This record gives sequence, structure tokens and C-alpha cells, in this order.
Amino acid sequence: MVIAIDGPSGVGKSTASRAVADQLDLVYLDTGATYRAATLAIVRAGADVRSETEVLSEVENHTIDYTEVGIVLDGESVASDIRSDQVTLAVSAVSAHPLVRAAIVEMQRRWVDDRGANAVVEGRDIGTVVFPDAPVKIYLTASPLVRATRRSGDAEAEGKSVAKIAAEIEARDHADSTRKASPLRPADDALIIDTSELTIDEVVDRIIARVNEILTDGGA
Ligand code: C5P
Repeated sequence: MVIAIDGPSGVGKSTASRAVADQLDLVYLDTGATYRAATLAIVRAGADVRSETEVLSEVENHTIDYTEVGIVLDGESVASDIRSDQVTLAVSAVSAHPLVRAAIVEMQRRWVDDRGANAVVEGRDIGTVVFPDAPVKIYLTASPLVRATRRSGDAEAEGKSVAKIAAEIEARDHADSTRKASPLRPADDALIIDTSELTIDEVVDRIIARVNEILTDGGA
């Protein structure tokens, strides 16, 4: 089964998704990392992130894969490079291009199909667009202050004030949720979990409870 976990940044999505995958013995795909790897290729090539043609041609000329070591670009592990400020600031512009999304979404679907369609898939549009038939859809949220505070512990946020991180998160959320192609929003049948006051273990327990509910009675 595909478990789709969506939501904005700083809600604990990655940590919770990995833990759910571990507990259920499923593979895990971080789709944000695939958009970040494409962005890294574009930044390295010096292409214009606003030009769909330039971005698409870069994406088509590179191989992006997701393995046990994480995200791989043309055979090189780029797990830390994709977290640079330069990539973080450009990724929303790259992921807003419809043709670029179509190419990356096809890669994501193939990745999951190759693994027997059993996976925890984390992103922004997994329940709405990439796997609209996923039996379990989760949408995580949290208050802006909680999200900025959580992000301030990340390597990419080192040396920045919480206010600056909050402003960057807000700008990225705005771009991701107002874009025309697959905007960030909860699927109609998603379970929405506000993680502001919850520990990661509590979030994971709720997701697993939802999975069990769906497995036993179809979620009715
Ligand atoms: O999850 P993460 O913060 O690494 O995602 C980076 C960016 O990739 C998001 O801000 C968004 O622009 C894009 N993204 C997307 N669709 C997804 C996952 C990520 O557009 N499914």
C-alpha cells in the first residue's frame, strides 16, 4: 500500500515518515529531495530557474535516484548539497513548472511501482496528484512559530534567527500553495494532524492507527 504524507516544511514530515516506514517495514521516498536534486543540477549548470525550457532540458539530462544512501544525482550522493541555502531558495521556482513536475512525478511513480507499490511517500502533492488512490493519506500541519523553531535546529538554518527562518518558510509555503500546478493542499480524504503540541512518537502512533483503521475496515 502507498501511504501518502503531505504538508509544508517544519511539521515533522520527514522524521515521522521515516519512522512509519521503519515500523511497517516499507520503503520511504522523500519527494522533496527529488525536486531539490533537480534544483541542484540547475544551480550547478547556471541555468535560469524561471525558464521552464531551460529547467526541463537540465532535468532531462540528469539522472535522479533515491537509494539507501538517500538522494543521488548522476551517481553522486548529494544528500547534504541539496540542503544548501542556494537550493532551498530556488526549489519552489523549479517545482512550479508544470512540465518539470510531470517529468519528476513520472520518476516518482516509477520508483514506487518498481518496489511493488508498497511505500511511504512524503511530499506536497502525493495524496492529491501523485497517488490520488493511496488508501492512507495524511496531511501534517503546525503553527508557524513551532515550524520555524523546529527548523532552527536544522543544518541549513544554522546561524539564522527564528524570525528569518519564519520569513523564508512563509515565502516557500506561499509559493508552494499558490502555484497553478499541483498546489500544496490537503486531499479531501486526508487525515489532518496538527503536530504543534505532539511529540514525533505521538504523530507516528496516529499515523499507524490510521493505517490499521484502513486495513481493518477500509476507513469507513
Ligand atoms: O520537502 P522539502 O522542503 O525538501 O521540499 C522542497 C521543495 O520541493 C518544496 O518547497 C516544494 O517547492 C517542492 N516539492 C513539491 N512537491 C513535492 C515535494 C516537494 O513541489 N511533492
